[in-house]
Amino acid sequence: MDDCLFCRIVAGEIPSNKAYEDDTVLAFHDINPQAPVHILIIPKQHIACAADIDESNSAVVAHCFEVAALLAKEKGIEDDCRIVNNCGEKACQSVMHLHFHLIGGRDFTWPPG
Ligand code: 5GP
Ligand code: ZN
Repeated sequence: MDDCLFCRIVAGEIPSNKAYEDDTVLAFHDINPQAPVHILIIPKQHIACAADIDESNSAVVAHCFEVAALLAKEKGIEDDCRIVNNCGEKACQSVMHLHFHLIGGRDFTWPPG
């Protein structure tokens, strides 16, 4: 999608600091990190939000979690990390292209605000 920020990052039109890439998934460091490790993991195909996941696209979502596990181990945060998805504007989704935040390297609180 031409007007989607993360599609433009996938296309290379906007630079990103990549952490992982293959044919279907891209991971890159968040521009405004909330922890020592803050990586965004996205399907390359445009899926707007988690509510749009269905049997036609769930394989790439599963792959996003495989990549999250790989990167968590690579960054040494596999024992204490958080994988977050915000779905919808009131849930603080600001980029309408499905993404999972992999966050670690600090303590967390629960519940989220
Ligand atoms: P959301 O609020 O939609 O769950 O998360 C969007 C995330 O994308 C935010 O954490 C924000 O810092 C990050 N972000 C927004 N624009 C850019 C950008 O151009 N490059 C990178 N690397 N991250 C971005
Ligand atoms: Zn997109």
